[in-house]
Amino acid sequence: MMRVGFGYDVHRLVEGRKLVIGGVHIPHSKGLLGHSDADVLIHAICDALLGAAGLGDIGQHFPDTDPELKDVSSLKLLAKIYRLIKAKGFMIENIDTTILAQAPKMAPYSKAMQAKIAPVLELDEGLINIKAKTTEGLGIVGTGAAIAAACVAMLRKRRW
Ligand code: MG
Repeated sequence: MMRVGFGYDVHRLVEGRKLVIGGVHIPHSKGLLGHSDADVLIHAICDALLGAAGLGDIGQHFPDTDPELKDVSSLKLLAKIYRLIKAKGFMIENIDTTILAQAPKMAPYSKAMQAKIAPVLELDEGLINIKAKTTEGLGIVGTGAAIAAACVAMLRKRRW
């Protein structure tokens, strides 16, 4: 049985924070604001996996009031979610993502992001697609107020 899930996330870009996207530190004058490291791409992937498995959303599993999760690497959250979906008998077929950012350019980092995410999900890097685009200067992304990410994940339920 195949199951599809969708994830979407937005974080505000502010001064005085490191910019971490897809588990990769990207040099920039601003970073994403959030309780964890605010890795918008990883959060979108987490929600897509949870959605496909029928397990709710990231906020239910990792409340932003939990002091343990302050500034935590979102790759750790992704690893926990992967264990949850695996325990329900799911394996990942592929993941497709889009990052929406006016600046900085994401393309130079997409290979490094794949290399960070693939081992966490026990996947070949080629099964994790990372696309990036600007919003042509429009909206909260275009003005540089925020970075957003969307993800679709396809899961297969194992037959025992
Ligand atoms: Mg988030």
